[in-house]
Amino acid sequence: MKQLTALLLALALLLGLAACGGNNDGPDQSADAENTREQELPAPEPEPEPEPYDIYDPTVMPEGGTRDGVTYAAYDGIVEHLFIHPVIAYPELAFDGDSQEKGLDDYMITATEYRRILESVYERGYVLVDIADVWSETTDESGKAVMVRNTLYLPEGKKPLILSYDDTNYYEYMLENGFAYKLILDEDRKIASWGRDPQGNEVVSRDLDAIPMLDKFVEEHPDFSPFGAKACLSVTGYEGLLGYRTQTDHTVEWTDEMEAYRQSEIEAVKPIIAELKRTGWTFGSHTFGHIRLGTLGMEKIQSDTQRWFDEVGSLVGPTNVLFYPHGERPDGDDWQNTGPVFQYLQSQGFRILCSVGIESFSYIKKDICAVICDRLHPDGTTLRSKYVDQRYGQFYDVREIFDWDARPDYGVNWQ
Ligand SMILES: [Zn+2]
Repeated sequence: MKQLTALLLALALLLGLAACGGNNDGPDQSADAENTREQELPAPEPEPEPEPYDIYDPTVMPEGGTRDGVTYAAYDGIVEHLFIHPVIAYPELAFDGDSQEKGLDDYMITATEYRRILESVYERGYVLVDIADVWSETTDESGKAVMVRNTLYLPEGKKPLILSYDDTNYYEYMLENGFAYKLILDEDRKIASWGRDPQGNEVVSRDLDAIPMLDKFVEEHPDFSPFGAKACLSVTGYEGLLGYRTQTDHTVEWTDEMEAYRQSEIEAVKPIIAELKRTGWTFGSHTFGHIRLGTLGMEKIQSDTQRWFDEVGSLVGPTNVLFYPHGERPDGDDWQNTGPVFQYLQSQGFRILCSVGIESFSYIKKDICAVICDRLHPDGTTLRSKYVDQRYGQFYDVREIFDWDARPDYGVNWQ
């Protein structure tokens, strides 16, 4: 009897609701209808909570000299620095005999080569540090601002390695040539790449781009990044960043539609930037237009710099790191001299200014608060070079890295 009453009550409620829903005369009723519809919708999937990610300062000795059972020791030796470009996901698209093939062979590595390089530097005892932790700005006895090299406290026996990734903008020309199209958050809200395979199918992956590849490698080998550091992303702005077209274009009449699209790209890239920063990635400037700092006129350098702040810095946040495009040094020389372009860039907040070289050279400038440093570059030119063992032998044996299956047959200059 009790059960029957309950059933009748439920039926009455249901009929009542249906009556309300069917009557659209007054505002009260439509509000009820709204409620009914809400009740019928399945509850939205809760956003997965991001896994916590710890970042530590390598310039501070852990309490008691140990953390997680690992003993730390002071390190004042050389800090190696490697840089790469976006990696080639599909070599058959990059090395297809077109006019870009040689350039891609010269300046890029394949995803396979990058995975091998990570495995090798990890096995050889390198650990990742963030570039901005290696030097600090302070004042000397006379009150002058100077850069100083920090003592790093590393797990005992380990060697520090800075990674930087240039041009992680996913330029238009890259899309047809076997690179990722952009970064996205995958269904686990982890950074993944989105792109198309040679057959044109959409592919979401964590194995085809150097950013998610490093995330994954650190997940599998947490001791490779004892401080949570990943790489510093060196980004331009002229084709947006991270695969999102967030840029303006001064060469065309800018329409409302263009601005609306740009704003939608800006909104889309914000959570990607936030997740990267949360998980140890940092950003540096590679200038807005990938300009030549050794030869371009001062006015153009100034307007380019301002535009980088407006369109890129506004999204990625402040940085004191600048990576010279083409490795071209301001004023033609940033070591012996401190020319007007260098002084201008320093006045804009850049303190760590990076070129490209044959060793991880760094030099704290005496006449201005800045440090300059060279980076080594695993790419086709160095992987084929007769100097590869001499200059890269501390990181890897090229014979175990070179992607014979993927690269065109341009020969190598080592045995
Ligand atoms: Zn570049």
